Amino acid sequence: MTALTRRRSDNDQETWHVYFGDVHVGSIGLRAGVPTGADQWGWRVGFYPGIEPGTQRSGSAATFDDARVAFEGAWRQLEPTLTEDNYESWRLSRDFHAWKYRMWDEGCRMPTQNQSGWSKCFCGESIPVACDAHIRSVHRGIGL
Ligand SMILES: [Zn+2]
Repeated sequence: MTALTRRRSDNDQETWHVYFGDVHVGSIGLRAGVPTGADQWGWRVGFYPGIEPGTQRSGSAATFDDARVAFEGAWRQLEPTLTEDNYESWRLSRDFHAWKYRMWDEGCRMPTQNQSGWSKCFCGESIPVACDAHIRSVHRGIGL
């Protein structure tokens, strides 16, 4: 069984991204701007695309450990309802965005920016507007 792992990713507040394999399935972090008497930690289980926003769960807790326990409880309920398609939707989106940024970094035009609807990928291949298949087959995992 695949375990959950955490990677720290602070912005202004301590934040942990939680991964199931290579899929970012949620987060746990200090809540910004809450009164000192309120729960200082928040957690959120869910990812998009892949599962509908209405399926996501979130809550607050007094301590990191309490937030982690609540997160894991919510994940244990959600995980059995998911299929590989859910994770795959998220991975394809992750790879598409990483590919798009690489195109920009390399100064390549997106197919939608050309009147012909075609462009050249940074790898040299000609790509149409519907370039998902190219990204999936040639650049799979680029967003890892
Ligand atoms: Zn390419």
